[in-house]
Amino acid sequence: MKSREIEKKFIQFFVSRKHLLIPQISLVPENDPTLLFTSAGMVALKSYFLGLEKPPHNRLVNVQRCLRTTDINKVGQNARTLSFFEMLGSWSIGDYFKEGAIKLAWQFLTTHLNFSPENLWVSYFAGDSDYPQVPADKESAKIWQEIGLDSDHIVGLGYQDNFWQSGEIGPCGPSTEVYFDRGESFGCKEKTCRPGCDCDRFLEIWNAGVFMQYNRTSQDQYQPLPFNSVDTGAGLERLAMVLQKKNSVFETDLFIPLTNQINKLASIGSGQEADKQQLINRIADHIRASVFLIADGVVPSNQEQGYILRRLIRRAVDAADRIGLSDLSQLVSVVVVNYQSAYSYLAGQEDKIKQILLTEEGGFRKAIRRGKKKIILMSEEKKTQGKPLSGQEVFYFTQTFGLPPELVKKEFSKQAIVLNKNIDQELLQAQKEHQQKSRSDQKFKGGLADNSDRVVAYHTATHLLHQALRTTLGDHVHQTGSNITSHRLRFDFIHPKALTKEEISKIEKIINEQIKANLPVTYREKTIEEAKKDGALAFFEDRYRQGKIRVYKIGDFSVEVCGGPHLKRTGLMGKFIISKEKSIGSGKRRIYGILEEDQ
Ligand SMILES: [Zn+2]
Ligand SMILES: [Zn+2]
Repeated sequence: MKSREIEKKFIQFFVSRKHLLIPQISLVPENDPTLLFTSAGMVALKSYFLGLEKPPHNRLVNVQRCLRTTDINKVGQNARTLSFFEMLGSWSIGDYFKEGAIKLAWQFLTTHLNFSPENLWVSYFAGDSDYPQVPADKESAKIWQEIGLDSDHIVGLGYQDNFWQSGEIGPCGPSTEVYFDRGESFGCKEKTCRPGCDCDRFLEIWNAGVFMQYNRTSQDQYQPLPFNSVDTGAGLERLAMVLQKKNSVFETDLFIPLTNQINKLASIGSGQEADKQQLINRIADHIRASVFLIADGVVPSNQEQGYILRRLIRRAVDAADRIGLSDLSQLVSVVVVNYQSAYSYLAGQEDKIKQILLTEEGGFRKAIRRGKKKIILMSEEKKTQGKPLSGQEVFYFTQTFGLPPELVKKEFSKQAIVLNKNIDQELLQAQKEHQQKSRSDQKFKGGLADNSDRVVAYHTATHLLHQALRTTLGDHVHQTGSNITSHRLRFDFIHPKALTKEEISKIEKIINEQIKANLPVTYREKTIEEAKKDGALAFFEDRYRQGKIRVYKIGDFSVEVCGGPHLKRTGLMGKFIISKEKSIGSGKRRIYGILEEDQ
């Protein structure tokens, strides 16, 4: 079954059961500064579940392009990890609940996709001694049994596997997931092997229901929600892998044209065939993701979405080098053609996408060349001194030339330089130190010279300005610098053209509305992991960051990692006026703003 056929069947099935088909949103969620990327179909629906907005219908269905980069290092190494993927989703918002959702899932899988019940297993929330406040979801287990699933195939799991929550507080509930049994030959052969096992035997193919029935109001308070909702999701690539009887998502029709083309263009093998295949898969994933990201308006940069795109492209270039493939822009057309039927807008962007890839790849290769030259020079010195390569030195090359650590080590080895025994620990240490320094620098992010009340007010205003700029001009806007005195703020940011009068007054209006609303300014200390979970805007992908950071929230208007200090409420600021706006070269703009007291 072709992937687009699976998608069509899914949509038709739910539409014919009174679900409203809703359109996709961009990979960069609009109006949600708390999220870097659209990571699931439900991102667009959050406000419905929270009861903040009324949904267009109480049953919904869609297909959503998504991006997740937490496992970026695993991409290509196993059968199923991807950065970009398409998610099939269906929802009930205060309509049917567990029984309805499970019956729909069963019906679709067994009669429309023709899965044989012997190959299907499910998991449900069986309670968890660490979370005694939430009862086991026995109801779901019973419903699966009643519709005819073998009770051996119904597996109870704990909080980590089968309980869903979006943050420390908010709607949450148990989930039930469907697994496809690929057969014993894929398994670990342990007696305990069942869904939830780490081996490759049981593949999760459908989150058949997250049952939102509780509102978590504090650490251990779970209160019933005013209405129950269901959120379901299935990865199109995984369904295709199973239905097309392939051993990996990269062998499905969603990838084959692309991996074939990469194979054709590659000029060298990479020792072992399996290694080469991993590199090909990695390139295929990263290029497909890059095509979709650029089409959604992301450009490579050192911040946020742009930083992730840059990382994807650089990782792809690195892999391409190892199989003798240059010029990744040659792969763009293959993606565009393969996705033509579902994403026709890609075709109109093909030239732009190629151009951006070409520029980024060229820039990276130049950096590699400069870095290699420097490595050769340094190697000469080292040889005379007889010193091994240290982790600090590797770090220098990652920072100055943007080279991946592996490449630095490899190049030095080529020059017959010995690597220090503790090189990886030293590298980690250097990264940590750098990060601590950035964190103390972060405190002066606003350029605060002193902590007088006016300075603090101006600094707090920069948060409002940053978000108001993004809301008005788009999410490509990023702060690049700022300077504050007790009389004015100066704010530098990325934007390609001069602001219009209308834009300026809109920005002022948005900011003054937030000031009038007298929003509370609050912060929480979080680890990067926690901040990531809550979706705050920052460099999440920097996996070496450790320890606590501060995430500042201004009402629901702005969320930013910052060191402070800030006003307690926005009402104390006065009226905000943009006094000047000008270019400071290379796509950067500068705004001067003042706060008029006595509003
Ligand atoms: Zn196993
Ligand atoms: Zn701040």
